[in-house]
Amino acid sequence: MTENSQLVRLDSGEPSPATREPLFGLDAESLASLLVEIGEPAFRGRQLAEAMYHQRLTDISALTTFPLALRRRLADLDWRVGRPAIAKAFQSADGTERYLIEFEGSGPKGKTAEAVWMPEGDGGEAGDSATEDAEGDPGKQAVGCPTQAECPRSLAPGDRGKHEEDVAPSFPAASADERVGDRPNRAWSRATVCISSQVGCAVNCQFCLTAKLGLQRNLTAGEIAGQVVALLDRHAVRLGRDRLNLVFMGMGEPFLNYDNFMAAVRLLVREVGLSPQRMTVSTSGIVPGIERFALEPADLRPKLAISLNAPNDRIRAAVMPINRKWPIASIIEAVRRVPLRPRERITFEYVLLGGVTDQPEHARELAALVRRTGLPAKVNLIAWNPGPGIQYTTPSPVTVEQFQRTLVDAGVPAYIRQPRGRDIFAACGQLKRTVEA
Ligand code: SF4
Repeated sequence: MTENSQLVRLDSGEPSPATREPLFGLDAESLASLLVEIGEPAFRGRQLAEAMYHQRLTDISALTTFPLALRRRLADLDWRVGRPAIAKAFQSADGTERYLIEFEGSGPKGKTAEAVWMPEGDGGEAGDSATEDAEGDPGKQAVGCPTQAECPRSLAPGDRGKHEEDVAPSFPAASADERVGDRPNRAWSRATVCISSQVGCAVNCQFCLTAKLGLQRNLTAGEIAGQVVALLDRHAVRLGRDRLNLVFMGMGEPFLNYDNFMAAVRLLVREVGLSPQRMTVSTSGIVPGIERFALEPADLRPKLAISLNAPNDRIRAAVMPINRKWPIASIIEAVRRVPLRPRERITFEYVLLGGVTDQPEHARELAALVRRTGLPAKVNLIAWNPGPGIQYTTPSPVTVEQFQRTLVDAGVPAYIRQPRGRDIFAACGQLKRTVEA
């Protein structure tokens, strides 16, 4: 049995041990074991995996590679795919879509999380040579849903400096299209998918509204990977032909749900067929998680982004209390252990908070910090997304550009993320409201 088999509750003595559990999330080997347990040949497990992860089937009765009698038997045993479903879709004029994803089998608490689809990305992976290599399209690759705070759900430059209420008065007032059944067109050449690893978050970053939810629960591997497959299905993505990037930067801290996060990565690589070089995981700096991550094999390890957000421990501890447990030096030391692929870079995500982290001296200190690490690295800059009840301000576009210029002049590659999907009220504050709805 594989590591994913832990997802199945074995009920010894019964012919169908997984009758009440979703099958989605189990790898081919685990599925084969289940089928063998009910007296079927193991190859049926591969067929089932192929149907769920490649053909994106959500109903076993449509699995025509299985004889009708077997399909009926599985239905009698209450076997079901149980893939997470898109409960609501909010469509932006710029093509970005935000989804409320519903999970089967979870109780009333933590039943939903959010995922985002960004056609053409947001420029966040500019300068990432490893991905450009993989793409064969240097300089053009753009990706990335950042951490919650850096999410593409940000305001357009002209709206910066306003509070969220000024530009997004209330979620129900959104002009977004909520009709889940409407298939969007395929007018995109590449896309980025941003998914959640937990419902809520325990890290308590002061600039992030998701933090106000607290941690409701960890998502399982199937629930994490299922968000991706649901979006691939919705957009009819042809893996191997379409350029798709995946970022683990939605709700939650992936490294505080490490086992399920990595089980989802294995599933996405081995069963779904995504490349780990097209995936990026962002952490707030959970040092034990980074140390474990460093031991993962290259063929299963996504790229790493550190949500830094401050140039020194004093400021970072104020905006990210987790820094008191794992200060910057300990994070950098752990990151050094991650064996990078040729030309791969570590990304430092940096949210600019007006007057707090966006001043020229902060830029100089950040540049010195990044240079001191000696790591192949780049910095992604994100003007803070305003949120109700949070007192920070958003820096002006000029301030952001000057900050970037200071970094670049100091020899530190720095990129500014572009806002996406603002008309669907997709800033961090809306994410929390949606999940609570
Ligand atoms: S780790 Fe991410 S989701 Fe959690 S509180 Fe911090 S910014 Fe928000």
